[in-house]
Amino acid sequence: MDKDKIVAATKAIIEAVGEDPDREGLLGTPDRVADMYAEIFAGIGVDPKEELSVGFEEAHEEMVVLCDIPFYSMCEHHLLPFHGVASIGYIPKGRVVGISKLARVVDILARRPQLQERLTSQIADTLMEGLSPRGAAVVIEAEHLCMTMRGIKKPGSTVVTSANRGIFRQKAATRAEFFSIIRQKRGLQ
Ligand code: ZN
Repeated sequence: MDKDKIVAATKAIIEAVGEDPDREGLLGTPDRVADMYAEIFAGIGVDPKEELSVGFEEAHEEMVVLCDIPFYSMCEHHLLPFHGVASIGYIPKGRVVGISKLARVVDILARRPQLQERLTSQIADTLMEGLSPRGAAVVIEAEHLCMTMRGIKKPGSTVVTSANRGIFRQKAATRAEFFSIIRQKRGLQ
């Protein structure tokens, strides 16, 4: 990542909005923003499937669900954060992966300029390609700061997206099982 370019660009924005980049409080801001962007966009150019390459063979062929993985991403239309939780389910076909690897996949894909819809399908597609399971499902619930701190200003509203692949797409009962596990986990039923 070209940190010098981010530093220069941030300084230009500070000037352009009518502030003084040499004011004490703003002096270190371009450098801090460059370090921050390097961190929150660390997923650019990283292949999330690599995380799934260390899976192991296992006869387990029942649904595995990881609920409410927290994530932070950046809306590519406004470069403002959207954040929330992702829940992932898959039914292995002889191959499983450590739970933390699923969270890593979410992290890598979230750390890019993103859209919630695309993030949701990319997680599902990564699972399908990386684990060749019988199916995968992803639900993401997120708050978008571009909706809540500007624009239509609806604080607390969340956007829900889902993606179903394989057996989750084919069988309503499988989808229903996935959603019921998520609801149970939250004590909603
Ligand atoms: Zn936005």
